[in-house]
Amino acid sequence: MRVVRVLSDGDCRYGLADEATVTLISEEPFAAWEPEGTLALRGAELLTPVVPTKIVCVGLNYMAHARELGMPIPDEPVIFLKPPTAVTSPEAEIKIPSEIGRVDYEAELAVVIGRRTHRARPEEARLNVLGYTCANDITAREVQRRDGQWTRAKSYDGFCPLGPWVETDVDPEDLLVECLVNGEVRQAGRTSDMIFDTFELISFISQVMTLVPGDVVLTGTPAGIGPLSPGDDVEVRIESVGVLKNHVV
Ligand code: MG
Repeated sequence: MRVVRVLSDGDCRYGLADEATVTLISEEPFAAWEPEGTLALRGAELLTPVVPTKIVCVGLNYMAHARELGMPIPDEPVIFLKPPTAVTSPEAEIKIPSEIGRVDYEAELAVVIGRRTHRARPEEARLNVLGYTCANDITAREVQRRDGQWTRAKSYDGFCPLGPWVETDVDPEDLLVECLVNGEVRQAGRTSDMIFDTFELISFISQVMTLVPGDVVLTGTPAGIGPLSPGDDVEVRIESVGVLKNHVV
């Protein structure tokens, strides 16, 4: 199943997409729902597929990325937050403020939580996932270095493109995650290279904070991070999940 949010007659509605059609649903996808009409997928305005209360991100979670930075492999996940206001739609423009210096792409597998998750074991965490989508953890690299912590660098409006949909029928354990800039591959890693797997991450985070339906976990980025410039087209492609494409201005 592919869960989408679309604009329909001026309202934001959840739906289920197939190759050509969106079936609108009566409730959020986390609850029992009924089908309520259809619209064509082509030409539909896709919104961010969920509205999270928080976006929990993991730093340094791929072996090859840790090696490229010359960093030791961490003993436990390093987590940080992006605010819900950083989330932006698939195909929305990413606006880079002129005064902040270098800004990087980071292609990441995003997990969407489907049920309240509090102090869950990894095998319980697996059952609480609604599905997976593509994320770009846009980062103001110079601001990050200057501040010595990550809040400002990760939190500019629009610095978390998400989408285009939530794919519910996929196993996250060995997927190709790629970032392309202007059609050229810059990052290509497999989720099997993660230091902490998806369900260990959710379990770890849920010891700290309760995850609620719609919350998003960004699972870290593979090797090959680099800068974006105004005019670039940046794509996050995840095998069996989808393609998230944004233009930088
Ligand atoms: Mg990241």
